Amino acid sequence: MSYILSEEQEQVRKLAREFAQGEIVPVARENDRRERFPEEILAKMASLGFLGTLPPPQYGGMGLDYISHALLVEEVAKACFSTSTTLSVHISLTQMPILQWGTEAQKQKYLPRLARGEIIGCFGLTEPNVGSDAAAVETTATRGDGGWRLNGTKTWITNGGVAQLALVFAQTEKALGYRGITVFLVEGGTPGFSNTPLTHKLGLRSSNTAELIFDDCLVSEENVLGKVGDGFKIAMAALDEARYTTAAGCVGLAQASLDASISYAQTRMQFGKPIGGFQLIQELIADMMVETEAARFLVHRAGELKNRKLPASREISMAKYYASEAALRAADRAIQIHGGSGYCDEYPVERYFRDAKAATIYEGTSQVQKLLIGRAALGINAFV
Ligand SMILES: Cc1cc2nc3c(=O)[nH]c(=O)nc-3n(C[C@H](O)[C@H](O)[C@H](O)COP(=O)(O)OP(=O)(O)OC[C@H]3O[C@@H](n4cnc5c(N)ncnc54)[C@H](O)[C@@H]3O)c2cc1C
Repeated sequence: MSYILSEEQEQVRKLAREFAQGEIVPVARENDRRERFPEEILAKMASLGFLGTLPPPQYGGMGLDYISHALLVEEVAKACFSTSTTLSVHISLTQMPILQWGTEAQKQKYLPRLARGEIIGCFGLTEPNVGSDAAAVETTATRGDGGWRLNGTKTWITNGGVAQLALVFAQTEKALGYRGITVFLVEGGTPGFSNTPLTHKLGLRSSNTAELIFDDCLVSEENVLGKVGDGFKIAMAALDEARYTTAAGCVGLAQASLDASISYAQTRMQFGKPIGGFQLIQELIADMMVETEAARFLVHRAGELKNRKLPASREISMAKYYASEAALRAADRAIQIHGGSGYCDEYPVERYFRDAKAATIYEGTSQVQKLLIGRAALGINAFV
């Protein structure tokens, strides 16, 4: 693995950094305060190709390698983790499963529009009774005249209220357990498909979250993604993609906490000198720096495996687990360094803290990541 970025990767990082610092940072606090979904930021990101980083140009994407994708996401997350979460779901949980499992017609129909930001995507797996145990999906899809009838509720769905395309996981043959789950591509406006916004979240306040409701919603046969019964396999592959992107975002969040802390520690005077001169503050900064860099290496190692099309699930879980917890610790330390000023949104560090917590929960909690890493180390397959 190379520790030196290529010229192209440096260029992607520079472009993303300039955009994020110039366009996202100035509006991030206000959008967080107002729980406002940043449509205009997404439109600008779309014009730069940022909404389709990974899919190849033939489907409207940028065709970036995984390290470049991580660098871009890191820069966006450093400015606003809500926006990088929107991006992660739109690309890694929507476009990547379509790219990997879709028919040519599905790819042609949806990927270019998603990459151009004409439509936003979401991923509906979680339900009121189904979280970490994703194989226990209760939403049903019953085959009949004209396709499949979906009934059930999905909850905590990022982009759920703004998406025009939802990947929906439903039980098509209960007796088969996790092998009886199928994915459906459900378009916004389909009769029987509605959503209710989920507001007042602890963090990620400018990312959109909603409940999706399916009430006898008819979906045609050509909108089955992959084969009937492939749903669980598709969910796990998609979650690998998303955990990688989330881990990269968490590196950005940790870096933002570190940068803010260094700048504050250099200027805040107490006892007649900048607080950065106190060794206990230096220790907090040193810990943040080591953990941020370690998280970045874990992400880039997983990215290198992905670039080479090698198995990377365990490395991705390690990166997601470590980076999300490191981002949370970094934000906690950043608030400590800012003292009372860190406890309100005059400075961004309290937002970093609230946002970082979500990453230890979604796409598989930290406990679930540890189970996956431990099982992989011990050669245990949970499904036999
Ligand atoms: C901001 C946000 C955005 C989200 N976006 C999406 C989305 O776009 N699409 C989507 O489908 N879902 C989404 N989710 C849902 C998310 O993936 C789930 O919240 C997550 O998988 C955990 O499920 P749960 O909340 O039901 O918790 P539960 O599964 O009920 O877990 C509760 C607690 O028990 C622990 N636990 C559970 N099982 C075990 C075990 N076997 N061993 C040890 N501990 C265990 C968990 O780690 C956790 O601490 C989102 C959630 C949040 C907070």
